[in-house]
Formats: sequence, structure tokens, C-alpha cells
Amino acid sequence: MHEKIYRGIIASPGIVIGRVYLLDRQKIVVAGRRIEDVSVKDEVTRFKKALEVSRGQLEDLKKRISKGLGKSHLYILETHIMLLEDKMLVDGTIKHIKESFLNAEGALKETIRAIGLKFDSIEDEYLRERKQDVEQVGERVLRNLVGHKQESLADIKEEAVIVAHDLAPTDTLMMRKDKILGFITDAGSRTSHTVILARSLGIPAAVGLENITAAVKTGDVVILDGVHGVVIVDPDEETFLDYLQKQRQYKYFEQELEKLKTMPAETLDGHVIELQGNIELPEEANAAVDHGGAGIGLYRTEFLFLNRQALPSEEEHYLAYRHVAERAAPHEVVIRTLDVGGDKVGFPGEFNQEVNPALGLRAIRFCLQKREMFKTQLRGILRAAVHGNVKILIPMVSGLPEIRETKKLIQEVKSELRSEGKIFQEDLKIGVMIEIPSAALIADLLAKEVDFFSVGTNDLIQYTLAIDRQNEHVAYMYEPLEPAVLRLLRRVSEAAHQANIPLAMCGEMAGDPLYAAILLGMGFQHLSMNVASIPWVKRIVRSIRMQDAVELATLVMQQATATQARRAVESFIEERFPDLAAEL
Ligand code: PEP
Ligand code: MG
Repeated sequence: MHEKIYRGIIASPGIVIGRVYLLDRQKIVVAGRRIEDVSVKDEVTRFKKALEVSRGQLEDLKKRISKGLGKSHLYILETHIMLLEDKMLVDGTIKHIKESFLNAEGALKETIRAIGLKFDSIEDEYLRERKQDVEQVGERVLRNLVGHKQESLADIKEEAVIVAHDLAPTDTLMMRKDKILGFITDAGSRTSHTVILARSLGIPAAVGLENITAAVKTGDVVILDGVHGVVIVDPDEETFLDYLQKQRQYKYFEQELEKLKTMPAETLDGHVIELQGNIELPEEANAAVDHGGAGIGLYRTEFLFLNRQALPSEEEHYLAYRHVAERAAPHEVVIRTLDVGGDKVGFPGEFNQEVNPALGLRAIRFCLQKREMFKTQLRGILRAAVHGNVKILIPMVSGLPEIRETKKLIQEVKSELRSEGKIFQEDLKIGVMIEIPSAALIADLLAKEVDFFSVGTNDLIQYTLAIDRQNEHVAYMYEPLEPAVLRLLRRVSEAAHQANIPLAMCGEMAGDPLYAAILLGMGFQHLSMNVASIPWVKRIVRSIRMQDAVELATLVMQQATATQARRAVESFIEERFPDLAAEL
């Protein structure tokens, strides 16, 4: 039989070869049926009992997990426990039992379906994932109602690669690393809790394979390449041997990278670069340091605003930022103020649908129109900043007026906090994101107004080359080595150095080791990236001299096209660093 190759979403890196264990995670089938009004009380009691049993199971899991893994992952179980008290879920089900005369199973299923429909109208990926939390909790309660125990990953005795339709974060927490080699799912995305956890626990995974459960059976040989999101079922001999070699190489690199964790990101000639992590959730606060990074170079705060009816209160802002600041201390945390655009339909309150949201009322433009909302966030940041080493970063600035206006607002907030006798950080450093070409072109003027720059290449490339970053048809043009992009980066770097302010990058470009070498040569002192990339970039930094990086940057700047630039980098690295070339 010929091998079959499937491609999914890169979820958690690593290469494993093993046998499939197909996990039964099909939704439990329960019968909803009408009941007599005399049975209503009994059904409500059954439902409440199932809630209690579910709570007991989750508390039990919590105890077991806190022994083995540390407290940082308990929030997932706590979210599920909290959901067992959620008004929409609990009151909604009881209402269905009482008013629609449905048995507890039917009423609960109906309630989960109705909550699901509400979530479905939301386009935001992160929000849609929260629907899964409700479904997973609902499934647990349903199973307890019918007395059907769920197959547990803790019971698996042989080494295996788990293949399932979907997995709950609690499944991931139950995985014993000596038995579970990795997992592959039909559903899922990069921002699901399950995937975030897999990354932080170092369990290789690929998700979003759509129908992989139908293509495999327990016992099949499978290769999971979590580095590229590729799954190969029944590999041919040649592929098998090839991956055996890749796996060995990967393990070797991993061991080497682990050694780097406590070492500084320092070039051979003594230049120290700050390598930092990008995070989206307060729960990820430890992730950067765990990967050998020096704090958080970008904390995207928009997730605090989504998935809710009302805007977050000052206290919520304060607590989330304080949590991250305390965890990261003494390292810095760069908190970016709200960056939502017209496409974020999960945002509380009315939000105008725009024809072209990328060019619309987004980020700082939106905040300056919603001043009270913005001031609430600024108050939270200013107050939390006394608990660590916090800086503030303003997104999507296109010219001087926006940054001046924002600074005025920060002054206003400070004087209000002062007159209220609140404790806050007086000298909070303010940075600006350089992610619109106009900002890059007037970097010299902006540099006089702010304390640091952080370049957002995800947007800078989109706006410079006029390619929608969400549009798969033009994704092939998304190219950091385009001369136009490189010239803007150079210009920004010169302005930062002239004004003597720190220069950072927090776009995806910073997390690619090949680009990182060029950025070093261009004078970037902070590189912030997804945390899994930190060790790879650190390895490059520690392998070269600043002088080499400067030469490389000069060479790349001289090329007329991105293709030529790429060739130039590759041959430079091959010539000077043959060992590194093999891994890039
Ligand atoms: C960027 O634009 O490069 C960036 C880091 O911000 P975001 O991806 O959140 O727009
Ligand atoms: Mg951006």
C-alpha cells in the first residue's frame, strides 16, 4: 500500500514516528425526550447531580495535575469548573426542563446548541475556540447523566500517536509523555487551549486535518511532523528512513537548544540581543522565560475585550497586566494597547462593519474615538506597571498627531490617578509600533516623541506591498526580503540610532533565524517572537559575530529582488557557517 500524506495546521513542533491510537471522541448520542410535568423535579435533580459529579471529576483532575505539572495550567480546569456554574448553561438547561418538558439530556443538548449558535456568528478565531470549552464541559455533564465514562488518555498503556476528532485541554493534561508521542486532530487551530498547552508541554501536534480520523485505524504506522504540520500514514520505506534521520537530527538540535536556555543571547564578539516572546493570554506569561527568553516583547491585549457582553473594567485590566508583569519580572513586558479593527465582530457593543477593515477604524484610531474605553485600559496599565518592568506600546500609528494625542491622554489619566491618590507608575516608557509605511518614512520625527520603536512586519509588509495578510491568493507575495521592505527597515533603524532610542521588532519576521541574522546586522536590539522560535534564534545569535551580521545586512540591501536577496543570504551562510546552513 502507498503512503498517504496529509497537511494540517502547525500546532506544536517535533517529529515522531509511531502507531496510531484512534481515540473515541465522537460526541455521545443521547435521546432527548418529552417528560410529564410530574417528572420535572426529578430531571432537574438528575441534572444538578450530574453537575456535581462533573465538578468532583474536575476537582480530582486538578489535584492530580497540580502534583505533576505545576500550577500554571490549572486555569483550564478552573475555566471548566466555572462553566459548570455558568448562568446560560445551568439556568438555560433548567428552563428547558421546566418550560419545554424535556428530559435533562435533551434540555442540556438544546442549551449547548443554542449557546453554540451564538458563538458561530462570531468570526474571530479565538472566540470560536471558547465555544469548544462550553461543548467540552457539556459533553462531560452529558456523559455523567447517562453514566457513560469517557475513554481516558491516562489508561493508554502502549506508546502511541493519538488521533482524534478533537481533544479537550484536559486530555492534553492527562497525557503521559512516556506513552503519548504526539497527537493529530481533525479539528483545532493554533489558538485553541489544547494547542497552547501542547506547545508549552512540548508535545508534538498537528491539528485541523479535517478528516484524518476517517483515514486511519488503530495500529497504523504514522509519521507526525509537527514542524511542518504534515502527517504521513503508512509511509514507504524510503520516507520512513528519511524521517528516522530527520527525527534524530531534530532530537539532537533540541538537546543542543535546551543547553542554550540559560545562556545569554550574545554574539561571538559580545553583543547582547534581547530575545523575547509574543503572548496573547495572561496564562502565557511564563512561556517566554521557559523558552530561554528575556521577557515579553509584545502582549496583545485584544483578547481581554472579546467574548463578552460588556467592556472590561479597570480592575480586570489591572489584574491581567499585573499578573503578567509579576510573572515576567525582572524582565520587561511590553503591553500593547487595544488593536481591534472593523472585522472583530466579537467586540462588545456596536461596531461598524467596514468594507475594508484593514484600512479602517482600527487600533489607535478606534481608541482615540472611544476615549473613555481607552482611558480605562490606560489606567489599568499605569497601575499594574508598579508591579514589574512594564512598557506601553501604541499600535497602527500613521503620523505625529496620533502619538501626541495619546501622550496627552496618558498625562490626563496620570493626573486623574494622582488626584484620586492611586498608586501608579509615573515614568512609564511609551513606544510606537512601526507598521504603516508612513510611520517608517517619518521615523525620525516619531523618534523625538517616543521612548522606543517596535516594528510590526506583519502589517508593515501588508501595507507596503499592498497585499492583504488574510488573503491566501496573494500570500505568495508576502516577502520580508522585498527591497522596499528592507529599505523601510533600514530607515527606521537609522532614525532609532540617531535618536538613541531602543529598536525592537515584534512581527513574525523576527522569529525566523535567517532573517534574525539580517536584523542583527541592521541594528535591531530586541527581537520578539512566538516563544517556540526563541531557542532557534538564540542559536544563530550565539554563532555569529556582529561584524558578519552587518556584512550580511549590507549584502542583502544591495539586491534588486527578494529572490536575489534570499539567494545571497543562503550562499553567505553556506560559505561562512556551513554547520548552521544545514539546519536553517
Ligand atoms: C505586526 O503587525 O507585525 C504585529 C506584531 O502585530 P499584529 O500581528 O498583532 O497585527
Ligand atoms: Mg500589527
